[in-house]
Amino acid sequence: MEANEQAIGMGIGPKLSRDDLFRFSCGPHVPCFTECCGKLELLLTPYDLLRLRKRLGISSADFLDKYTIMKLKTSHGFPEVMMKMDSSTEKRCPFVQPNGCSVYEDRPGACRIYPLGRASTSHPMEEIRKEFYFMVKEDHCQGFREPHEWKVREWLEDQGMDEYNRLNDLLMEIYVRKARLRQITLTGQHIQMFVMACYNTERFRDFIFNSAFLNKFDIDSDLVEELRNCDQKLLEFAFVWLKFALFGEPAIRLRT
Ligand code: SF4
Ligand code: SF4
Repeated sequence: MEANEQAIGMGIGPKLSRDDLFRFSCGPHVPCFTECCGKLELLLTPYDLLRLRKRLGISSADFLDKYTIMKLKTSHGFPEVMMKMDSSTEKRCPFVQPNGCSVYEDRPGACRIYPLGRASTSHPMEEIRKEFYFMVKEDHCQGFREPHEWKVREWLEDQGMDEYNRLNDLLMEIYVRKARLRQITLTGQHIQMFVMACYNTERFRDFIFNSAFLNKFDIDSDLVEELRNCDQKLLEFAFVWLKFALFGEPAIRLRT
């Protein structure tokens, strides 16, 4: 079985299932409150970016420009988007305030899931996905001294992780395909297409509605309306489109 491992976290401890227990609590009551919002490399997935820029009410291009750095050299060959930390020696996140995270309801998946990390594996032919979790213990983090006990599944629910995992797994499917097709070389045009589809909602929508796209591809009319009106549907469709555009898979029907 060919597999891909996704790790959103900083280190791998013993494997945990959704029914395993751990002790942790975080909030203004802990002495290290917001310490973890600095001196970190914070990867933003396409869904993270979508949630954050909608919360701020700004365009994808403005969010990318103001709050992120694009990392071009990556192990999987696709660019990654990182949060741009401030220039102080503490390298603080632009959204951290003395009273906590100013974008809390839309904070990135990596901020939600801590102190857990998640690894997922997928079968390339059957799209079967398995997952496990693990503890990520940062030395400065005192949340582990707190008595509150959680099941992994309770923590994921409390932190609203399921939607983040679902969207992030769609991105992972693109990485898996690239790894599987070792002989494939991505051109500059492929990379631009990937960045647009994943990280720039407005440009991707413009590409669909203001080009020959809908004449060329047979897209269900209900889906067309959803793509016009719903940014999350558009992102989900972006991953389908990339399977066609990058790997030539029949993920989208051509009009005959
Ligand atoms: S370091 Fe740990 S306990 Fe402290 S604020 Fe961050 S996550 Fe919470
Ligand atoms: S997004 Fe919020 S929780 Fe995440 S690092 Fe920034 S301030 Fe902290």
